[in-house]
Amino acid sequence: MGKTIKDDQPRVYFDCAKCPGYCCSIYERVPVTKRDINRLAKHFGVSYETAYRRYTTNWRKERVLKRTPDPVLGESCQFLDPVKRNCTIYLARPAVCREYPDRARCVYYDMIQFERRLQDDVNALPLVQITFRKTKKREGADTASGERVWEWTPEKK
Ligand code: SF4
Ligand code: SF4
Repeated sequence: MGKTIKDDQPRVYFDCAKCPGYCCSIYERVPVTKRDINRLAKHFGVSYETAYRRYTTNWRKERVLKRTPDPVLGESCQFLDPVKRNCTIYLARPAVCREYPDRARCVYYDMIQFERRLQDDVNALPLVQITFRKTKKREGADTASGERVWEWTPEKK
């Protein structure tokens, strides 16, 4: 009987090689578990305690990867190569990075492609920052259209 060859890889509509690494830059936090820190420790040949102290930090009640200034997007995960725009610890990256974006499309890839087409500029680079600060929400309405709009007052740092 003939063998059915299946392509188990799900089809995706983004190409990380053509992206400046938004997901490694725009999120203020990349959470890590004990298992992630163990993986980092093994990768760098250091103890769990050293990896914990050297590569991670507290963000509110979470333990997250440390960040560093980034020449393109302002700030990024310390493991993003600032020039090649790829992960320098790919095989040791945390679970959350392995799962991302966990769907066939990546909104940031769509956004960069959208802007490049819109601007007719293959080098256009939209700058994005996602924050998780609490905001005071105010609901209002656009006076001209009656459309509901939202206003956000950022929490003071
Ligand atoms: S933002 Fe999307 S396309 Fe860009 S590196 Fe991350 S997963 Fe890949
Ligand atoms: S560990 Fe790698 S994949 Fe994860 S945020 Fe940092 S650079 Fe990106």
